[in-house]
Order: sequence, then C-alpha cells, then structure tokens
Amino acid sequence: MKNKYNPSEVETKWQKVWEEKKVYKPDLKKAEKPFYNLMMFPYPSAEGLHAGNMYAFVGADIFGRYMRMKGHSVFEPIGLDGFGIHSENYALKIGKNPMDQAKISQENFYNQLHSIGNGYDWDRTVETYDPNYYKWTQWLFIQMFKKGLAVKKKSPVNFCPSCKTVLADEQVIDGKCERCDTIVEKKDLEQWFFKITDYADRLLSNIPKLNWSEKVKIAQTNWIGKSEGMTVKFRVEKLKKEIEVFTTRPDTLYGTTFLVLSPEHRLVNFLLESKEIKDYVDRAVKKSDIERQAEGKEKTGVFTGVYAINPVNNEEIPIYIADYVLSSYGTGAIMAVPAHDTRDYEFAKKYNVGIKQVIAGENVSKEAYVGHGKIINSEDLNGLFYPKDKEKVINILSEKGIGKKEVHFHLRDWLISRQRYWGPPIPIIYCQKCGAVAVPEKDLPVKLPYIENYKPIGTGKSPLATHPEFYNTKCPECNGEATRETDVSDTFLDSAWYFLRYTSTEVKDKIFEKEIIKKWLPVDMYIGGAEHSVLHLLYSRFMTMFLKDLGLINFEEPYKRFFAHGLLIKEGAKMSKSKGNVITPDKYIAKFGADTMRCYLMFLGQFSQGGDFYDTGLEGMNRFLKRIWVFSNSVLLTDKEEDREVLRMINKTIKEVSKDIERLSYNTVIAKLMEFYNFAVDKKSLGKDTLGAFLRLLAPFAPHLTEELYQSKISSAKDFSSIHSNLWPSYEEKHLVLNEFLVVVQVNGKVRDTLKIKSKDSEDQKTVERSAKGSKKIESYLKDKKLIKTVYIKGKIINFVTD
Ligand SMILES: [Zn+2]
Ligand SMILES: [Zn+2]
Repeated sequence: MKNKYNPSEVETKWQKVWEEKKVYKPDLKKAEKPFYNLMMFPYPSAEGLHAGNMYAFVGADIFGRYMRMKGHSVFEPIGLDGFGIHSENYALKIGKNPMDQAKISQENFYNQLHSIGNGYDWDRTVETYDPNYYKWTQWLFIQMFKKGLAVKKKSPVNFCPSCKTVLADEQVIDGKCERCDTIVEKKDLEQWFFKITDYADRLLSNIPKLNWSEKVKIAQTNWIGKSEGMTVKFRVEKLKKEIEVFTTRPDTLYGTTFLVLSPEHRLVNFLLESKEIKDYVDRAVKKSDIERQAEGKEKTGVFTGVYAINPVNNEEIPIYIADYVLSSYGTGAIMAVPAHDTRDYEFAKKYNVGIKQVIAGENVSKEAYVGHGKIINSEDLNGLFYPKDKEKVINILSEKGIGKKEVHFHLRDWLISRQRYWGPPIPIIYCQKCGAVAVPEKDLPVKLPYIENYKPIGTGKSPLATHPEFYNTKCPECNGEATRETDVSDTFLDSAWYFLRYTSTEVKDKIFEKEIIKKWLPVDMYIGGAEHSVLHLLYSRFMTMFLKDLGLINFEEPYKRFFAHGLLIKEGAKMSKSKGNVITPDKYIAKFGADTMRCYLMFLGQFSQGGDFYDTGLEGMNRFLKRIWVFSNSVLLTDKEEDREVLRMINKTIKEVSKDIERLSYNTVIAKLMEFYNFAVDKKSLGKDTLGAFLRLLAPFAPHLTEELYQSKISSAKDFSSIHSNLWPSYEEKHLVLNEFLVVVQVNGKVRDTLKIKSKDSEDQKTVERSAKGSKKIESYLKDKKLIKTVYIKGKIINFVTD
C-alpha cells in the first residue's frame, strides 16, 4: 500500500475503522463542547445521491470536521425525507408501490452516502416514512388541532391536474406546479390548514437577529410580506354597494381617478351589462396569473359604465375591470393613482382617464412620478411628506372616518392536506355526533396501510378514501360509528421538525428527550440550498416557535447560523432530469476515490456561489493527491528544528486556511494547500510536525488519504487516535515574519546581484549600501564611476545611479 495510492483500498479501510471506533458518534448526554452540524434533509428517489447533493453534503461535512478538530463534540446526523410527492411521483413513473420503492431507494441512497466519507453518526438516522417517526408528525398535528391552530376550511386552492393534488402557495412557481411544471388550476375544496399567519409578526420580527445569509433573510421577509396601510370603502350609488380597497399609499387618495376590479371580483356579476364587458371577463378569467402579470404586456380593461364616489372629496370616478389586477391581491380591487403608479399610468393614458398629481416632484405629463415628496392638492394632507408622514396621514384620514388602519401579510395559512397516498394519514376522526375529533395519542401512529390502488384518483379525495377497512372506525369520544380523515399531510410538515428527532431516535414514548435538546439545540450550523429559503426554513421556524409555546423547548429559532451554498452545474448548464445531464458520483468515486471527488467539487469555486462540473477536471485533482501520497512516503521526516523558511510557510498556511475555512471559502483553502505543497516538494527532508500540520489542514477535504498518511507517517500513539479527532494545528505569529530579505542590487537600473539581508538590518539604508558595495560584482560595476545617487526600496531593491 505504501508506494501506490489506491483510493478504494484506503477509503474502505478507514470507513470501517471510523465506524468501529465511533469517531463520529458523540455521546449526546455527556458531550462537553457540543456542536450540531446539520445539512438539509435530502429527499432522494431511486437515482439517489447526485453530484449536487454530494457537493452540498461534503461542503457541510468539511465544516463539521473542522469544528471536531477544533475540539468540539460534533453531531452530524443524516436521514431522508422519503414521504411526499417527489418519491411518490417517481414510484408512479416506474409502476412500483411507493412503500416497496422506499426500501430500495433507502438502501441505495445510504450506500452511496457511506462512500463519500462524511462524518455521519449512522446510529441516528431518521426516515420520515418510518412509523416511529411519523407517529410524532401526527402527534404534532394533534397538538396544533388542540390549540386551534389546525383548522378545516373551504377555500380556493391550487390544484395540479397532472399530479392530481392540491399544492401550497409555495409549491406554485410562476403559476406552475413546482414538481411537474403543469399550469395550476384553482379549485374550491375543504382542506386542513395550519394557522401560521398567527405567527406572522413573530416570524418577521426575529429575522434581523438571525445569523443567516442576507439574501435568505430578504426572501423570508418578502414572503411574510408585511404591509401597513388602510382599507377604504368607495360607495357605488347605482348598485347600492361598496367596493373595499386596501392601499399602502393612503397619501395618494386624492389622486385616485378610477377604480379597477379584478375580473373575479364579486361585484363584477352585477356589472355585466354589455356584451363587450361579458366577453372581456370571459377571456380574462381563462388566462393564467403569469400571462396577466407579464411585464411589458399592454394593459387591457373595460369600462363598466358605473361610477364610485371617492370618499375624500366625493368626486365620481369610473370603475373599470382589468386583468392586471389579480383576485388574490388584497381585496381584488384597487384604487388607481395614475400620477404615482406606473401601471395605473399606462392604463390611464390608454383609456383617457384623468391624471391628478398629489405628490410634488417631477412633472407627470410623460410618466408617473413614483418618488418621495410633499403632499399637494389634498386638502388637510397638504404639506405632509411621503413617506415620512404615513402614520399622520393614516390618523387624519381615520379620524375623518374615511378608512381604517390595517396591516396585511402576503403570508397565507399553511395548507396541510394532500389527496395522495404517500404521506402520514391526518390523525382526525369524524363523528356525526361529536364532529372532528383527534385520534387519542395512545392510538398513534395511524398507520398508512399497504394498498394496491395507490394512484391519485383526481376526485379531490385520497386513494385511502376507497378503503373502508382503513376509514371505518369508532368515535374515540362516544364510541359511535365514525370515519377517519383520508387525506395525508404535506411533506413539508415531515421536514419541519426532523432536526429535533435526530437527537432522540431511540426514544419511543415521547417526541424527543428534553435534556438532550437543551444541550444540543438550536442547531449551530445549518447548511443547505437557498432555494429552500422560503418554504422549509419558514415552516421549521414556525414549528419551533409552536414547540416553545407548548413549553417543550426553551428557544424559538431553530438554526443559529444558516449558510446557503451555491448550485452545482454541469458544463455550463443546470442539471436536470429532462436534460439528462444529472451526474451521480458513483462512477467518479469508483475511478478516482471519494477524496479526489470531494476536493474537486470544493475546488470549483466559492462554496456560496456554486461550481461548474467537468468530467475532465477530476484528473488534475487526482494527480495532486497522488503527489501528496508519494511525497509523504518519500520525504525524510526529522525531529530536528525546522528550517526558518519552512516554518514561516507552514505557519502562514495554517493561519490562512483556518481563516478561510471559518467562512467556508473552500476553494481558496485548496489553493493554499497546493501552494504549500509546491513549496515543500523539492525538499529532501521535512519536520515531522510540519508534514503533520499539513495533513491535518487537508484532513477535512481528503479524510481517508490523510488518515492513512497520518497513521503511517506521523502518529506514534499506541492506541488509535484519528487525525479527525486530533487538534487542529495552530500557528505562531512570530514565525510569520520574514527573517531575511532578498534585496536586489541594481546599477543604473540593471540587476547586477542579490543580497541576503537580515530583517533588522534592512531598515537601515546605510547598512544595506555598505554590504552592497562590499560585493565583488558590484565593486566592478562601480569602479571608476561617479555615484550620483542611491535609491533604496526597503527590503526589496537598492539601485546605484552613476554618471
Ligand atoms: Zn404537478
Ligand atoms: Zn362521537
């Protein structure tokens, strides 16, 4: 083994030893410096681990390994989120029952994960479809239900006709199903919701305190979308009705010159007086939200022939119906202020509606003025400033009875029910007498039965609804005939609390061990993709707050630090199944070893920015590791005092690598390790400590190779002591200073010699001059010449200028 680097031999060997010696299994009860290093819950299907997962997981693992070497007890668990539409759709595609497929996927995925060499605690895996796990997912549902936070209501929901299921708002991207890109329809269905909106203010107000990537914080803030404003009612005399509008710009009420209703607004039914209006509405409701909102699209609309009264000045203003107003926005009606809103301006110009400026600033004859300024043409509001005086404006208008102050959130209640098979059954029983009753906790879990007809049926009901042996039951309260809920819960609920369960996988009688949670949580470092910044992070924050309110935990934010890694792409293109360019790491690991793959992935670019994968790139990294192997095995290792220049280089490398690893700048770490190697490679001998330090710096990136070299070349311990539990090297500032400078000596700008100058002597020009003139070579150049001047650049160049 010594002479040839054989990655598969080395990697298999050490993975076995680590597992036996429990190198990555902290004692959760006794650990003294706990550090919870968490990577985002994967949801693999049968293709299992792809290179993008590996990229994310290795990047997270490196940080965990570093913290372990810094002396922390690091807990780095892994598991899989195998319930839900992603796994289910895959099973449907290949015609297998999802329950059968899950076992196959799990085995494959865990085998792949073993091969990448991460420091996982394999005794504590979590799988969401394990009844021991979803028992507690159901238990959480019941707690929500008991607190009045899980409610059933009829509402228009997003329905994917292809997946035959409802989708939460977050699962609809640009009007399309996140999973299959089909245009989403609206359906009115009875559904279970979690009232996350009750927590909107709390979820929002904690954000500034979080140590998270800024873009993720912004995404969360926008999703919660708090806006303060007023609701104002506009009277419609002809219909003897009112139109309610929510506005965040009450300062522009006097500039309102028309109202616009969305085609779905409930008053539209009373306004269908002409064929023109009817046709317009018919066409508009058929369009998707994306089409209607498309930027640059010409605004269309139709005048209803009816007027409303602007309550601030009793002016009559026309009412239009236009598709650029969506029913989901506010009340589905807007007050249009063309002078100060770009879209309203376009519309007003096209349909010849009046434009009235009420904020002083630029002239509005060419375009809307959307900037700040003094309020004008607005009676009592004149002289106030937008936006600074918004509060005053609201107070004045409220006192006059024109509207009332309101806070709106973009955040909607969390839609929990799914009419699918592959999820935890919602633990509710319906009784004619008692209504909706929670399944008693002692009866949990409500097991998902193995059924043959697991395909979604598209009737707005789950396949479980065709199984009376599942749904017929007794009411837990009156013992009368009753039926079970047949919907299952959303997979985002499964992943909203998994990080808590990792700590307590062996506990059967409660959701988790309180004492261990107290010791290990909140999670110290959470690493995952920014694409989950809205959905998953928000739900897990909500669940954490809820558990705190139940008195089960003593913190309300689950993740102390969240780091968003970048995306791995393949030769310039995003990896996707439809393009057929998804890379699985297996063949690369088989050919080059996991260490090469790990280092290569981390060398592609800043971890936060992502990288571009090329098949051809692995060779180079493999060569680098081979050279380290050969060098470590051939260089003469000594215990003698290390050469000063070598000391300086290794101390500098330790300093810089530590700094870079703290900020997860892994590509620069590898560059610095290469630099050190290139510096050291020509040396015949090297201090044992120096090579030991170098191997430890490389250890988080190439854990197997460095373990082998460390054990065979460096360690003298009788009992096995892994390089990965070993101390991270430290540097000494005193070694970083250059002891000697190489000063270039020039005569009339031409290089004639170089001099070694002690660093303390380099300060003094006279001393440098004297030694330069003492050089035989320089002497010959200066002979018979008259010295005009001497220029000295400290520690670098001395130049003699002669006539
Ligand atoms: Zn779909
Ligand atoms: Zn009953």
